[in-house]
Amino acid sequence: MTPVLFAAGVALATIAGGLLPLYTKLREMDFRYLVGFAAGVMLSTAFFEIIPDVGDFNKTNAFFLAFGFFLLYLVEKSILIHTCGESECEVHTPIGWVSVVGIGTESLVDGIAIAVGFSQSVALGTAITLAVLIHEIPRGFSTTVIMQQSGYSRGKVFAALGIDSVLTPIGALIGLTFPAEFFGPVVAFPAGTFIYVGAADLLPDAHRRFNVKVIAAVLLGAATIPLLVALLDAVR
Ligand SMILES: [Zn+2]
Repeated sequence: MTPVLFAAGVALATIAGGLLPLYTKLREMDFRYLVGFAAGVMLSTAFFEIIPDVGDFNKTNAFFLAFGFFLLYLVEKSILIHTCGESECEVHTPIGWVSVVGIGTESLVDGIAIAVGFSQSVALGTAITLAVLIHEIPRGFSTTVIMQQSGYSRGKVFAALGIDSVLTPIGALIGLTFPAEFFGPVVAFPAGTFIYVGAADLLPDAHRRFNVKVIAAVLLGAATIPLLVALLDAVR
């Protein structure tokens, strides 16, 4: 049950991120560095931790990696919700409840990834949990900001954050049920979703204006995961 507890802990990050714009003066806060750092963490988790764990990288596993990538692409482009503060995005289309389904899908996949990671190794599970935790803070934040801009009440924002965060532990429960013979595809799938979120969602949002410090934050994020895993290996 450890992965479910970790997923529940991560869900609190979504809620914490979502409450910041409601209860603090952080609405205008510059999240670019955190978003850039999260992009680096997501990408290096996929490249250095998840993909090597796929094992035999055959055509089936490659298909599931691509499936993870394009599934999130379709979900995101059909709902138009981005991880960015209001000062960063030029266009925000008002969002509907279908968007909650979209962000819920991403949270569900995050939970599955955490469970699958821990089924492989503690190091992989920890790396995936950290990657999810870090990107969920700005994601919860932007969900609230965009919903408020679209005229949703506080109650509806709470409901959306609640649905969103409860889906991560549910995803972890689902992840625990996957039989071992499907581990190749099941590990490859979140690699695709992580690459999509990192490269296509977070990176462009972090770089809306050129800033060399954002590049530094991205590279720092990318270096953090291999360093952390090496540290975990050393203390074991
Ligand atoms: Zn997520």
